[in-house]
Amino acid sequence: MAIGVLIVMLAVGVLCACQASPAAYTRTVFAMDTVFTLTAYGSSEVLDALQSIVEDTEARYSVTRATSLVGRLNQAGQCALEEEDEALLRRALDYAAITEGAFDLTVYPLVRAWGFTTEQYRVPTAAALAEILPLVGYEQVQLDAGLASVPHGVQVDLGGIAKGYCGELLRAECARRGVTSAVFNLGGNVQTVGAKPDGSPWRVAIQSAENTGYVGVLSATDVAVVTSGAYERYFEQDGVRYGHILDPHTGYPVVNELVSVTVVGSEGAQCDAYATALYVMGVDEARAFCRAHDVQALLVDDAHTVWVSAALADSFQPHGDYRKEVL
Ligand code: AMP
Ligand code: MG
Repeated sequence: MAIGVLIVMLAVGVLCACQASPAAYTRTVFAMDTVFTLTAYGSSEVLDALQSIVEDTEARYSVTRATSLVGRLNQAGQCALEEEDEALLRRALDYAAITEGAFDLTVYPLVRAWGFTTEQYRVPTAAALAEILPLVGYEQVQLDAGLASVPHGVQVDLGGIAKGYCGELLRAECARRGVTSAVFNLGGNVQTVGAKPDGSPWRVAIQSAENTGYVGVLSATDVAVVTSGAYERYFEQDGVRYGHILDPHTGYPVVNELVSVTVVGSEGAQCDAYATALYVMGVDEARAFCRAHDVQALLVDDAHTVWVSAALADSFQPHGDYRKEVL
Protein backbone atom coordinates (compact mmCIF):
# COMPACT_ATOMS: atom_id res chain seq x y z
CA MET A 1 0.00 0.00 0.00
CA ALA A 2 2.85 2.38 0.84
CA ILE A 3 4.05 2.25 -2.73
CA GLY A 4 0.59 3.25 -3.95
CA VAL A 5 0.53 6.32 -1.78
CA LEU A 6 3.96 7.36 -2.91
CA ILE A 7 3.20 7.00 -6.57
CA VAL A 8 0.00 8.97 -6.37
CA MET A 9 1.80 11.69 -4.44
CA LEU A 10 4.52 11.93 -7.05
CA ALA A 11 1.98 12.03 -9.87
CA VAL A 12 -0.07 14.73 -8.21
CA GLY A 13 3.12 16.67 -7.51
CA VAL A 14 3.78 16.80 -11.22
CA LEU A 15 0.29 17.97 -11.94
CA CYS A 16 0.58 20.90 -9.56
CA ALA A 17 4.01 21.85 -10.82
CA CYS A 18 2.93 22.03 -14.44
CA GLN A 19 -0.16 24.12 -15.07
CA ALA A 20 -0.46 23.32 -18.74
CA SER A 21 -0.65 19.57 -18.01
CA PRO A 22 -3.78 17.67 -18.96
CA ALA A 23 -5.92 16.77 -15.95
CA ALA A 24 -5.34 13.51 -14.08
CA TYR A 25 -8.33 11.18 -13.69
CA THR A 26 -8.03 8.46 -11.09
CA ARG A 27 -10.10 5.44 -10.18
CA THR A 28 -9.57 2.95 -7.40
CA VAL A 29 -10.69 -0.63 -8.00
CA PHE A 30 -10.55 -3.48 -5.52
CA ALA A 31 -9.50 -6.57 -7.46
CA MET A 32 -7.28 -9.63 -7.17
CA ASP A 33 -7.35 -9.25 -3.42
CA THR A 34 -5.68 -5.85 -3.53
CA VAL A 35 -6.21 -2.22 -4.46
CA PHE A 36 -5.67 -1.04 -8.03
CA THR A 37 -5.22 2.69 -8.61
CA LEU A 38 -5.68 3.70 -12.22
CA THR A 39 -4.59 7.20 -13.25
CA ALA A 40 -4.94 8.45 -16.82
CA TYR A 41 -4.13 11.93 -18.06
CA GLY A 42 -6.39 13.88 -20.37
CA SER A 43 -9.26 11.38 -20.56
CA SER A 44 -11.84 10.42 -17.96
CA GLU A 45 -13.80 8.22 -20.39
CA VAL A 46 -11.00 5.67 -20.59
CA LEU A 47 -11.41 4.81 -16.89
CA ASP A 48 -14.59 2.78 -17.42
CA ALA A 49 -12.85 0.67 -20.05
CA LEU A 50 -9.80 0.22 -17.82
CA GLN A 51 -11.92 -0.84 -14.87
CA SER A 52 -13.72 -3.38 -17.06
CA ILE A 53 -10.38 -4.83 -18.14
CA VAL A 54 -9.32 -5.25 -14.52
CA GLU A 55 -12.60 -6.92 -13.59
CA ASP A 56 -12.59 -9.10 -16.67
CA THR A 57 -9.01 -10.24 -16.04
CA GLU A 58 -9.92 -11.23 -12.50
CA ALA A 59 -13.07 -13.03 -13.66
CA ARG A 60 -11.06 -14.99 -16.23
CA TYR A 61 -7.99 -15.94 -14.24
CA SER A 62 -8.87 -15.90 -10.55
CA VAL A 63 -8.01 -19.20 -8.90
CA THR A 64 -10.68 -18.76 -6.23
CA ARG A 65 -13.60 -18.25 -8.62
CA ALA A 66 -15.13 -21.55 -9.65
CA THR A 67 -16.37 -19.98 -12.90
CA SER A 68 -13.02 -18.58 -14.04
CA LEU A 69 -10.97 -20.32 -16.67
CA VAL A 70 -8.52 -21.41 -13.97
CA GLY A 71 -11.33 -22.51 -11.66
CA ARG A 72 -12.90 -24.64 -14.40
CA LEU A 73 -9.57 -26.13 -15.46
CA ASN A 74 -8.76 -27.05 -11.87
CA GLN A 75 -12.13 -28.69 -11.27
CA ALA A 76 -12.65 -30.53 -14.53
CA GLY A 77 -9.04 -31.17 -15.58
CA GLN A 78 -9.65 -29.47 -18.88
CA CYS A 79 -10.99 -26.24 -20.23
CA ALA A 80 -11.70 -24.66 -23.62
CA LEU A 81 -9.49 -21.66 -24.35
CA GLU A 82 -9.99 -18.52 -26.31
CA GLU A 83 -7.02 -17.38 -28.34
CA GLU A 84 -5.98 -14.82 -25.75
CA ASP A 85 -6.12 -17.37 -22.90
CA GLU A 86 -4.08 -19.88 -24.85
CA ALA A 87 -1.45 -17.25 -25.62
CA LEU A 88 -1.18 -16.34 -21.93
CA LEU A 89 -0.89 -19.98 -20.85
CA ARG A 90 1.80 -20.56 -23.49
CA ARG A 91 3.73 -17.61 -22.19
CA ALA A 92 3.37 -18.84 -18.60
CA LEU A 93 4.73 -22.24 -19.68
CA ASP A 94 7.63 -20.55 -21.49
CA TYR A 95 8.52 -18.55 -18.37
CA ALA A 96 8.34 -21.72 -16.29
CA ALA A 97 10.68 -23.50 -18.70
CA ILE A 98 13.25 -20.71 -18.96
CA THR A 99 13.35 -20.29 -15.17
CA GLU A 100 13.61 -24.08 -14.77
CA GLY A 101 10.45 -24.16 -12.73
CA ALA A 102 11.33 -21.37 -10.28
CA PHE A 103 8.16 -19.78 -11.64
CA ASP A 104 5.68 -22.62 -11.94
CA LEU A 105 2.02 -22.11 -12.73
CA THR A 106 1.11 -25.51 -11.23
CA VAL A 107 2.00 -24.41 -7.71
CA TYR A 108 -1.63 -24.29 -6.56
CA PRO A 109 -1.78 -27.57 -4.57
CA LEU A 110 1.09 -26.19 -2.46
CA VAL A 111 -0.51 -22.75 -2.11
CA ARG A 112 -3.62 -24.48 -0.79
CA ALA A 113 -1.71 -26.75 1.57
CA TRP A 114 -0.22 -23.69 3.28
CA GLY A 115 -3.65 -22.07 3.43
CA PHE A 116 -2.76 -19.01 1.39
CA THR A 117 -5.98 -19.09 -0.60
CA THR A 118 -8.34 -19.43 2.33
CA GLU A 119 -6.25 -17.47 4.84
CA GLN A 120 -6.57 -20.48 7.13
CA TYR A 121 -2.84 -20.70 7.41
CA ARG A 122 -1.07 -23.83 8.58
CA VAL A 123 2.33 -25.48 8.29
CA PRO A 124 1.86 -28.76 6.40
CA THR A 125 3.80 -31.81 7.52
CA ALA A 126 6.82 -32.88 5.49
CA ALA A 127 4.89 -36.03 4.56
CA ALA A 128 1.96 -33.99 3.27
CA LEU A 129 4.28 -31.85 1.13
CA ALA A 130 6.05 -34.94 -0.21
CA GLU A 131 2.69 -36.23 -1.39
CA ILE A 132 1.83 -32.94 -3.08
CA LEU A 133 5.16 -32.33 -4.84
CA PRO A 134 4.56 -34.80 -7.71
CA LEU A 135 1.47 -32.75 -8.60
CA VAL A 136 3.64 -29.67 -9.12
CA GLY A 137 5.39 -29.40 -12.46
CA TYR A 138 4.55 -27.18 -15.40
CA GLU A 139 5.42 -29.96 -17.87
CA GLN A 140 2.15 -31.61 -16.87
CA VAL A 141 0.04 -28.85 -18.42
CA GLN A 142 -0.99 -29.76 -21.92
CA LEU A 143 -2.07 -27.19 -24.47
CA ASP A 144 -3.74 -28.23 -27.69
CA ALA A 145 -5.38 -25.80 -30.06
CA GLY A 146 -8.18 -24.32 -27.98
CA LEU A 147 -7.90 -26.73 -25.06
CA ALA A 148 -5.90 -26.88 -21.83
CA SER A 149 -5.72 -30.06 -19.80
CA VAL A 150 -4.01 -31.20 -16.62
CA PRO A 151 -3.77 -34.67 -15.00
CA HIS A 152 -5.95 -35.44 -11.98
CA GLY A 153 -4.84 -33.40 -8.96
CA VAL A 154 -2.67 -30.94 -10.90
CA GLN A 155 -3.91 -27.39 -10.39
CA VAL A 156 -2.98 -24.08 -11.97
CA ASP A 157 -2.54 -20.71 -10.26
CA LEU A 158 -1.82 -17.64 -12.37
CA GLY A 159 -1.47 -15.38 -9.31
CA GLY A 160 2.23 -14.96 -10.06
CA ILE A 161 1.58 -13.44 -13.48
CA ALA A 162 -1.98 -12.05 -13.57
CA LYS A 163 -1.32 -8.51 -12.36
CA GLY A 164 1.56 -8.00 -14.75
CA TYR A 165 -0.58 -9.32 -17.59
CA CYS A 166 -3.40 -7.01 -16.56
CA GLY A 167 -0.95 -4.09 -16.79
CA GLU A 168 -0.17 -5.09 -20.37
CA LEU A 169 -3.86 -5.10 -21.25
CA LEU A 170 -4.38 -1.69 -19.65
CA ARG A 171 -1.47 -0.24 -21.58
CA ALA A 172 -2.83 -1.67 -24.84
CA GLU A 173 -6.24 -0.11 -24.15
CA CYS A 174 -4.59 3.28 -23.63
CA ALA A 175 -2.81 2.90 -26.96
CA ARG A 176 -6.10 2.04 -28.68
CA ARG A 177 -7.75 5.13 -27.22
CA GLY A 178 -4.89 7.53 -27.81
CA VAL A 179 -4.10 7.96 -24.11
CA THR A 180 -0.37 8.64 -24.06
CA SER A 181 0.24 9.26 -20.37
CA ALA A 182 -1.04 7.02 -17.56
CA VAL A 183 0.17 5.14 -14.52
CA PHE A 184 -1.43 2.13 -12.89
CA ASN A 185 -0.58 0.80 -9.47
CA LEU A 186 -1.78 -2.78 -9.37
CA GLY A 187 -1.27 -3.68 -5.72
CA GLY A 188 2.37 -2.63 -5.73
CA ASN A 189 3.04 -3.61 -9.33
CA VAL A 190 3.27 -0.55 -11.52
CA GLN A 191 2.50 -0.19 -15.20
CA THR A 192 3.46 3.10 -16.79
CA VAL A 193 2.10 4.32 -20.11
CA GLY A 194 4.36 6.76 -21.93
CA ALA A 195 5.98 9.47 -19.83
CA LYS A 196 4.46 12.00 -17.47
CA PRO A 197 2.49 14.73 -19.22
CA ASP A 198 5.49 17.06 -19.09
CA GLY A 199 7.59 14.45 -20.90
CA SER A 200 9.73 13.46 -17.93
CA PRO A 201 9.87 9.84 -16.69
CA TRP A 202 7.55 8.51 -13.99
CA ARG A 203 9.20 8.23 -10.61
CA VAL A 204 8.30 4.89 -9.09
CA ALA A 205 9.06 4.37 -5.42
CA ILE A 206 10.22 0.82 -4.64
CA GLN A 207 8.66 -0.19 -1.33
CA SER A 208 10.87 -1.54 1.43
CA ALA A 209 10.04 -4.90 2.95
CA GLU A 210 9.96 -3.36 6.40
CA ASN A 211 6.96 -1.38 5.20
CA THR A 212 8.40 1.71 6.84
CA GLY A 213 9.58 3.50 3.78
CA TYR A 214 11.14 2.86 0.45
CA VAL A 215 14.28 1.41 -1.00
CA GLY A 216 14.71 4.03 -3.66
CA VAL A 217 13.12 5.65 -6.66
CA LEU A 218 13.23 4.37 -10.22
CA SER A 219 12.70 6.62 -13.24
CA ALA A 220 10.58 4.73 -15.75
CA THR A 221 8.88 5.42 -19.08
CA ASP A 222 6.34 3.16 -20.79
CA VAL A 223 7.36 0.03 -18.88
CA ALA A 224 6.05 -2.35 -16.25
CA VAL A 225 7.79 -2.23 -12.85
CA VAL A 226 6.78 -5.43 -11.05
CA THR A 227 7.81 -6.34 -7.52
CA SER A 228 7.72 -9.65 -5.63
CA GLY A 229 8.54 -10.25 -2.00
CA ALA A 230 7.35 -12.38 0.86
CA TYR A 231 6.47 -9.25 2.83
CA GLU A 232 3.43 -8.81 0.56
CA ARG A 233 1.66 -11.74 2.19
CA TYR A 234 2.76 -14.03 4.99
CA PHE A 235 1.75 -15.59 8.27
CA GLU A 236 3.65 -16.27 11.45
CA GLN A 237 3.61 -19.40 13.55
CA ASP A 238 5.81 -20.15 16.57
CA GLY A 239 7.93 -17.13 15.76
CA VAL A 240 8.61 -18.22 12.17
CA ARG A 241 7.43 -16.19 9.21
CA TYR A 242 6.04 -18.07 6.21
CA GLY A 243 5.75 -16.10 2.95
CA HIS A 244 3.39 -16.67 0.04
CA ILE A 245 6.06 -17.31 -2.59
CA LEU A 246 6.80 -21.01 -2.60
CA ASP A 247 9.74 -22.94 -3.95
CA PRO A 248 8.05 -25.37 -6.36
CA HIS A 249 10.98 -27.78 -5.97
CA THR A 250 10.78 -28.11 -2.18
CA GLY A 251 7.20 -27.11 -1.39
CA TYR A 252 8.34 -24.63 1.27
CA PRO A 253 8.07 -20.84 1.36
CA VAL A 254 11.18 -19.22 -0.07
CA VAL A 255 13.75 -18.13 2.49
CA ASN A 256 16.96 -16.59 1.21
CA GLU A 257 18.85 -13.31 1.42
CA LEU A 258 16.47 -11.55 -0.98
CA VAL A 259 13.73 -9.41 0.50
CA SER A 260 12.30 -8.21 -2.79
CA VAL A 261 12.81 -8.35 -6.52
CA THR A 262 11.64 -5.76 -9.02
CA VAL A 263 11.67 -6.48 -12.75
CA VAL A 264 11.35 -3.74 -15.35
CA GLY A 265 10.34 -4.31 -18.95
CA SER A 266 7.91 -3.80 -21.76
CA GLU A 267 5.92 -7.01 -21.14
CA GLY A 268 4.18 -6.91 -17.77
CA ALA A 269 3.39 -10.64 -17.66
CA GLN A 270 7.01 -11.54 -18.26
CA CYS A 271 8.19 -9.06 -15.62
CA ASP A 272 5.71 -10.55 -13.16
CA ALA A 273 6.72 -14.17 -13.79
CA TYR A 274 10.42 -13.26 -13.64
CA ALA A 275 10.02 -11.25 -10.41
CA THR A 276 8.51 -14.31 -8.73
CA ALA A 277 11.14 -16.63 -10.23
CA LEU A 278 14.14 -14.43 -9.32
CA TYR A 279 12.86 -14.24 -5.77
CA VAL A 280 12.77 -18.05 -5.64
CA MET A 281 16.29 -18.32 -7.12
CA GLY A 282 18.08 -16.22 -4.51
CA VAL A 283 20.60 -13.49 -5.17
CA ASP A 284 23.44 -15.39 -6.88
CA GLU A 285 21.30 -17.39 -9.28
CA ALA A 286 19.07 -14.35 -9.90
CA ARG A 287 22.05 -12.17 -10.83
CA ALA A 288 23.32 -14.83 -13.22
CA PHE A 289 19.85 -15.23 -14.76
CA CYS A 290 19.46 -11.47 -15.29
CA ARG A 291 22.84 -11.23 -16.99
CA ALA A 292 22.29 -14.31 -19.15
CA HIS A 293 18.79 -13.30 -20.28
CA ASP A 294 19.20 -9.52 -20.34
CA VAL A 295 16.55 -9.04 -17.66
CA GLN A 296 16.41 -5.59 -16.09
CA ALA A 297 15.97 -6.01 -12.35
CA LEU A 298 16.54 -4.60 -8.89
CA LEU A 299 17.38 -7.28 -6.32
CA VAL A 300 17.12 -6.06 -2.73
CA ASP A 301 18.94 -8.18 -0.17
CA ASP A 302 18.70 -8.31 3.62
CA ALA A 303 21.93 -6.27 4.00
CA HIS A 304 20.22 -3.37 2.16
CA THR A 305 22.22 -3.82 -1.01
CA VAL A 306 20.22 -3.20 -4.16
CA TRP A 307 21.70 -5.18 -7.04
CA VAL A 308 20.81 -3.23 -10.16
CA SER A 309 21.09 -4.27 -13.80
CA ALA A 310 23.64 -2.09 -15.60
CA ALA A 311 20.95 -0.74 -17.92
CA LEU A 312 18.95 0.56 -14.92
CA ALA A 313 21.83 1.83 -12.81
CA ASP A 314 21.47 5.50 -13.80
CA SER A 315 17.67 5.43 -13.45
CA PHE A 316 17.66 4.17 -9.86
CA GLN A 317 18.39 6.37 -6.84
CA PRO A 318 18.70 4.48 -3.55
CA HIS A 319 17.16 6.00 -0.44
CA GLY A 320 18.38 6.06 3.18
CA ASP A 321 20.92 3.37 3.95
CA TYR A 322 20.25 1.31 0.80
CA ARG A 323 23.32 1.02 -1.47
CA LYS A 324 23.29 0.15 -5.15
CA GLU A 325 25.65 -2.30 -6.81
CA VAL A 326 25.60 -3.28 -10.46
CA LEU A 327 24.55 -6.92 -10.69
P1 AMP B 1 3.93 -12.69 -7.05
O1 AMP B 1 3.32 -11.77 -6.05
O2 AMP B 1 3.79 -12.25 -8.45
O3 AMP B 1 5.33 -13.07 -6.70
O4 AMP B 1 3.06 -14.03 -7.02
C1 AMP B 1 2.87 -14.75 -5.85
C2 AMP B 1 1.62 -15.59 -6.00
O5 AMP B 1 1.83 -16.54 -7.06
C3 AMP B 1 1.35 -16.39 -4.75
O6 AMP B 1 0.39 -15.75 -3.94
C4 AMP B 1 0.84 -17.72 -5.31
O7 AMP B 1 -0.53 -17.63 -5.63
C5 AMP B 1 1.61 -17.87 -6.59
N1 AMP B 1 2.95 -18.46 -6.43
C6 AMP B 1 3.65 -18.70 -5.29
N2 AMP B 1 4.85 -19.23 -5.55
C7 AMP B 1 4.93 -19.33 -6.91
C8 AMP B 1 5.94 -19.80 -7.81
N3 AMP B 1 7.12 -20.27 -7.38
N4 AMP B 1 5.66 -19.75 -9.14
C9 AMP B 1 4.48 -19.28 -9.58
N5 AMP B 1 3.51 -18.81 -8.80
C10 AMP B 1 3.73 -18.83 -7.47
MG1 MG C 1 4.96 -12.41 -10.09
